[in-house]
Amino acid sequence: MKIKVNEHFFEIKETYLFSTIAKKVAAYSKENPDKKLIKLGIGDVTRPLAATVINAMQKAVEEMGRAETFRGYAPEPGYDFIREAVAGYYKNFGVSLSAGEVFVGDGAKSDIGNLPDILGDNPILIPDPVYPVYVDSNCMLGRKISYLYANRENGFLPMPDDTLTGEGYVIYLCSPNNPTGAVYSHAQLKEWVDFALKTGSLIVFDCAYEAFINGDYPHSIYEIEGAKSCAVEIGSFSKMAGFTGTRCGWSVYPDELAVNGKKLSSMWSRRQSTKFNGVPYIVQRGAEAALTKEGLRESHENIEYYMGNARLIAELMREKGIYFTGGVSSPYIWLECPNGMKSWDFFDFLLEKVQVVGTPGEGFGVGGEGYFRLSSFGSREATEEAIRRMKTVL
Ligand code: PLP
Repeated sequence: MKIKVNEHFFEIKETYLFSTIAKKVAAYSKENPDKKLIKLGIGDVTRPLAATVINAMQKAVEEMGRAETFRGYAPEPGYDFIREAVAGYYKNFGVSLSAGEVFVGDGAKSDIGNLPDILGDNPILIPDPVYPVYVDSNCMLGRKISYLYANRENGFLPMPDDTLTGEGYVIYLCSPNNPTGAVYSHAQLKEWVDFALKTGSLIVFDCAYEAFINGDYPHSIYEIEGAKSCAVEIGSFSKMAGFTGTRCGWSVYPDELAVNGKKLSSMWSRRQSTKFNGVPYIVQRGAEAALTKEGLRESHENIEYYMGNARLIAELMREKGIYFTGGVSSPYIWLECPNGMKSWDFFDFLLEKVQVVGTPGEGFGVGGEGYFRLSSFGSREATEEAIRRMKTVL
C-alpha cells in the first residue's frame, strides 16, 4: 500500500503491558498445563455487581422490550438522570457541580485516551510510574512528554519544582495512584493547582480509585480552591462499583475551563458527538443505581472485601521485611522486588516458582523498575493461596 500511517505508533511500546503479561502467562500455561495459576496481576474486579445495580438494569431491560419505553441512541453526554446523579455524588465531597459539567462515557480509559483530541501540541508532564494510558495516548500524537519521577524519597508523590520553568503544560495526576497507591494530601494538591494557575496549565486528574480512600485526603481535585479553572477530572464506575465489564465513567469539564474564550466543555462535547454514540441506557440506569445510598453501601462492601485482601498481602510483606506502599487507600500493593531483582525477573520468578502472576513495575514506566504490583481484586481464597505460596519463596 502507498498510504502513510501514523509513525508515532512505532514510538510506543509494541504491546500494551497487560497483553505482554497475558502472552507470557499463556505460554507458561501451555508448557505447564497441570500447574494452577493465581492471577494478582491485572486490576480487574471479581466481586459481582450490587443487587441494587442489577435490579435497576433488569428494569431497564424490560423498558427496552416495550414500545412505549424503548430507547434508541442515548444522548452523547449521558441522560440527564445520570449527569445529575454524578453531580449529586460530588456533594459528598463538598463539591458543587452542575449536571451540564458532567459528561458520561464508556469508562475512564476512553475519556483519558481521547482527551488529547481536543488539545494542541503542549508540553506534557506525566508521573512515572503510572497508568500507561496517559503516556501512550500522547505518544500516539507525537506529543513531547516530560516525566515527574515518583520514588521512595518523594513518597511516590512528585511535586512541582524549580526545574519546571515552562508554561501551558498538560499535567496528568492520578490519586490514589495506580500502581503505587500513593494519595495526594489537600496541601499537595493545592501546590499543583497553584502551579497550574500560575503557569496557565491544565491538570488532568484521574480519580478512578477515589472510592478506596481511607483517611482525610481529597476525593476530587475540585475540593481545592481554583481547580475549576485549571482541571478536568475523570472518574469511573469500574473500581468503585465493579463496572469493568459493564463500562461507564465520566469526565468533568467545569464551565470555567476555557482558552481564549473557547470552552473545553464545548470542544469535548463536539468531539464526543462526532466520535461516540453514548453509553447504553441499561448501563446508565445501573450506574445511576450505583450512586444511590443503597448502591454505594453495597459496593462499599465489595471494596471492604478487597481491602481485606490488601491487608493480608501487606501483612506478608511486613513479615518478610519487604518495603511496600499502597494497600490502605488503594487496592494495590506496590513492593520493592526482593534481593535487588528487576521487575520482569521477579515476574518470571513468581510465575515459575509459585505460579503467582503479578505486574512488573517497569511496565508502568522506567521509574517502576525494581518494583512489582500485586492486586487485591482476587477472591479471598485465591489471595490466601497466593500468600501461602509466596511465603515459601520470599
Ligand atoms: N485510570 C486508572 C488509574 C486505572 O487504573 C484504570 C483501570 O485500571 C482506568 C483509569 C480505566 O478505567 P475504566 O475501566 O473506567 O476504563
